[in-house]
Amino acid sequence: MSEVVDPATGEVVGRVAATSAEEVDAAIARADAAFVRWRAVAPGERARVLRRFAAVVDAHLEELARLEVRNSGHTIGNARWEAGNVRDVLDYYAGAPERLTGRQIPVPGGLDVTFHEPLGVVGVIVPWNFPMPIAAWGFAPALAAGNTVVLKPAELTPLTALRLAELAREAGVPDDVFTVLPGAGSVVGERFVTHPAVRKVCFTGSTEVGTRIMAGCAAQVKRLTLELGGKSANLVFADADLERAAATAPYAVFDNAGQDCCARSRILVQRPAYDRFLELLEPAVRALRVEDPARETAEMGPLISAAQRDRVAGYVEGANVAFAGSRPDGPGFWYAPTVLLADSPADRHWREEIFGPVVSVLPFDDEADAIRLANDTEYGLSGSVWTRDVGRAVRVARAVEAGNLSVNSHSSVRYWTPFGGMKRSGLGRELGPDALHAFTDVKNVFIATEE
Ligand code: NAP
Ligand code: MG
Repeated sequence: MSEVVDPATGEVVGRVAATSAEEVDAAIARADAAFVRWRAVAPGERARVLRRFAAVVDAHLEELARLEVRNSGHTIGNARWEAGNVRDVLDYYAGAPERLTGRQIPVPGGLDVTFHEPLGVVGVIVPWNFPMPIAAWGFAPALAAGNTVVLKPAELTPLTALRLAELAREAGVPDDVFTVLPGAGSVVGERFVTHPAVRKVCFTGSTEVGTRIMAGCAAQVKRLTLELGGKSANLVFADADLERAAATAPYAVFDNAGQDCCARSRILVQRPAYDRFLELLEPAVRALRVEDPARETAEMGPLISAAQRDRVAGYVEGANVAFAGSRPDGPGFWYAPTVLLADSPADRHWREEIFGPVVSVLPFDDEADAIRLANDTEYGLSGSVWTRDVGRAVRVARAVEAGNLSVNSHSSVRYWTPFGGMKRSGLGRELGPDALHAFTDVKNVFIATEE
């Protein structure tokens, strides 16, 4: 039994039994047997089942959101968006089964066609920072393509995934097609990597663990999608709408208390605008509402655990603090949003992913300098460019080595556009029109027509 804690209060809100190695093997065997039946379900019927699943999630949106507030400390506004995202991702990929078409390629002496065959059992490993969306980005397209799914939530945040499994059954998803297995990464997650019946692993989490999982999957040439860490740049040019850039910058990094792989945690400001930008940023950071995440007005909640809070604090110790926002007193794992001035790009807080409400600011000289500094990192997940010069916006967006760029905006995630990282931020893409193919293998069949 592991305890589930409310990060806003530190109180235990539930206990969840960890799945043993034997139980994982038995669940994978059942999912493997269910695959034979699920892939044979007619495309239109598989689509209907997924649409029903989306409808049942929609009917339980508020319940799921409240559960996430309690288990993960997410603001209620964010948690509603997250539950709604599960519904939307299910609806979007519910359109896929009847559209998973192959090609007919002209060849002499016969007919040549391709099929997108499902892989088998897909293992989805989810981190604690966005328990619901990240789960759905794996299980929805996997199920739509005809695979069965075993899913391991993070030990700290299993409650919404367990509830989603119940809702799936209620919606008529057949037994053993979608199984949630709470437990330790070293037991459940590892087994997804080593068990030969699991044909693909979708991993979201740290670059460190992801690198080990990739090595493990290599032993069986197992398919793999990785969504890993980030240290994304927010590039603010002197010609930008500075008011808007400064007003939105806190949300781009402090949303979900900075526990977001897309967090724009490095702000680069062109030198002539540097002082003015900081002047505008300070009141925006101080005004951020850090409070009980269940309140409708909350803009930021606590960190996930005491350990995470202490880790974050370690980056601020001895650093040059420009200013900070507020945090409530009392129990819970709170940390005030904090703005650091980087002395140089060698600073530890400039280089390492902090995964908390801390942002570093550094000035730059010109476009080339901005691009060089933005790309001076092992990561490449997202980034923002603020400028009124359209040509520059396009040049810089093309030059920054990251999978998801936004211009005069900080948005990264839409369920119908591709999401994922370059460099050590990941491998493969989730969401959007192409993600489905990452859950299939192409088969080419030639049929002779000669007598
Ligand atoms: P983590 O330690 O890598 O854990 C992620 C998941 O992997 C958890 O479910 C964990 O289980 C499991 N796991 C741990 N060791 C494993 C192993 N040896 N084999 C298989 N599974 C294993 O990351 P985290 O601490 O949860 O999350 C923070 C990190 O994730 C940050 O670096 C962040 O940037 C990254 N992240 C990236 C994205 C993205 O989309 N790119 C999204 C979210 C998070 P336990 O619950 O037992 O630890
Ligand atoms: Mg970990």
